[in-house]
Amino acid sequence: MSLHLSDVRLTYPDGDSTVTALDGVSVEVDAGDMLAVIGPSGSGKSSLLAVAATLQRPDSGAVRVAGQDTAGLSGKQLSRLRLEEIGIVFQQPNLISSLTTAEQLLVTQHMRGRSPRQHRERVRELLATVGLDGKQHRKPHQLSGGERQRVNIARALTGKPSVLLVDEPTAALDHDRGTRIVELLAEVTREFRLATIMVTHDTEYLGQVDRIAAMRDGALSHDTAAAPV
Ligand code: ADP
Ligand code: MG
Repeated sequence: MSLHLSDVRLTYPDGDSTVTALDGVSVEVDAGDMLAVIGPSGSGKSSLLAVAATLQRPDSGAVRVAGQDTAGLSGKQLSRLRLEEIGIVFQQPNLISSLTTAEQLLVTQHMRGRSPRQHRERVRELLATVGLDGKQHRKPHQLSGGERQRVNIARALTGKPSVLLVDEPTAALDHDRGTRIVELLAEVTREFRLATIMVTHDTEYLGQVDRIAAMRDGALSHDTAAAPV
């Protein structure tokens, strides 16, 4: 499987005590599957993504990404693993305001040590995949909110990750745009054989996903309402 968390615990310091963000969470996501995680604010959804993204080391439990156990890896090895295997889509696109759509993607390829020249073609293809054909020369302020989220998704896919982690992708969008973004995530999950976790508090979009799990007080209950096939 592409992503496997086993009995993960995560606490944050909280004054003299600690707050438990993840309380023994286990989850597996295979290549080509999208899991939606729903749950109220403060239930641990973003913490789950941070641990799966290897941005946060758990207090205990195991995180395997693309078959690799992350526990023994150094900070440098984790950065490399993130660049090569993990795509992350945060709630806010965080695009660089002075760069065009194509350049946003080329910058992340540059961080992978790849020359822009080699990747112009791939960038063009990816932008077409996410429905941004003809928009590669636009800057963020010349795009709609939905289009900015598409750039965000395309950017997360430039390194050909095997795992895609998405936090509240529809939070800033109206219903139609939100629906199309979730459809796009489901599509790229299948097309690129990604193991995708999408966190959301909007239950209205869940028709598109393979599996649903609910987070409550740091605990995950599985397949509360599997989508009809
Ligand atoms: P969600 O994404 O579902 O809203 P979070 O994962 O952000 O939940 O938060 C889970 C719990 O951990 C909450 O009680 C939150 O207050 C706490 N928490 C999250 N991040 C931090 C942090 N950096 N420091 C301290 N507590 C945090
Ligand atoms: Mg959150």
